[in-house]
Amino acid sequence: MSATTREQRILEIVQGTRAKQARFRDRQITTAHGAGGKASQSLIEGLLLPALHNDALAALGDAASVSVNGTALALTTDSYVVRPIRFPGGSIGELAVNGTVNDLAVSGARPLALTLSLVLEEGLPTAELRAEIDAIARAADAAGVQVIAGDTKVVERGHADSMYACTTGLGVVDPRARLSPRGLEPGDRIIVSGRVGEHGMAVMLARDEFALEAEIRSDTRSLWPAADALLEAAGADLHCMRDATRGGVASALNELARASSVAALVREADVPVAPAVAGAAELLGIDPMYIANEGKLVAFVAPASASGALDALRAVPGCEQAAEIGEVLREPPGMVLVDTAFGGRRVMDLLAGDPLPRIC
Ligand code: MG
Repeated sequence: MSATTREQRILEIVQGTRAKQARFRDRQITTAHGAGGKASQSLIEGLLLPALHNDALAALGDAASVSVNGTALALTTDSYVVRPIRFPGGSIGELAVNGTVNDLAVSGARPLALTLSLVLEEGLPTAELRAEIDAIARAADAAGVQVIAGDTKVVERGHADSMYACTTGLGVVDPRARLSPRGLEPGDRIIVSGRVGEHGMAVMLARDEFALEAEIRSDTRSLWPAADALLEAAGADLHCMRDATRGGVASALNELARASSVAALVREADVPVAPAVAGAAELLGIDPMYIANEGKLVAFVAPASASGALDALRAVPGCEQAAEIGEVLREPPGMVLVDTAFGGRRVMDLLAGDPLPRIC
């Protein structure tokens, strides 16, 4: 069997497996169910969606769109359980604001307001809580949103890890936005808004589990300025955006390729990675494409508007290293392929386990 025939057979098997209706058969929840990879996908598609089914949820966007008297609003929610709660470049407070703001931004919605629910562990020093509330206030201010409702619960010592936060975000869908998780079209250029893998690696190194020191800071920031610049530069040629959080750029590409029944081809050599992140990732045996970001988005832009979109993005603070890393292909549907720096081509699948638990 020739190499191309064998490759074709493998692709057919993978596609056949993916096309099957998801069923949730796991007996217990594991950390993998929260990792954004295959286990998360089976939990969502095999248990949550069938029970709660409705069109807004089924779209599996970063935020749902709700129309009220002709105004399109966007609604999203997220929980933050990062360990440790402080790390170079940020803390759980910044994530709780920026993570939710970014789900609105990549849905083409200008963030308006947040709610904040806190679950605190008995014994948490007040100084630590105060620092996080200050971080939330600063991040909200920087992102142009206000926290307009909240809730606080306390659980016994040992029943939570310092603190968890949950934020719900409300935004108004920008009239320029024509975005959809199913909007990818063959020929679209794939753009990332900067260097990948910084947040997840900063949190990993902050745990002191690895005898590894490197100057790596979380990239946590609001992505609304980046989304705004892309909407302005590309308009309806901007087909989709996603913030590359849990599971990294690789997982975002897989989800969207699957939703749109197209393929994504990534040129590995064009993916921007800071040397310190690349070095640490190599030592730990993790591909930077799977490492979480908290201030990076992936955008899909029709070819005619791609270079203008990239220029506009690079003018946004924090996005100077934005790059075009590949393009959307017609075949094989639902797959992400990588042209490696060594000249080969391989499949970049969703992860099966959770190499980096609780990084956001
Ligand atoms: Mg998201």
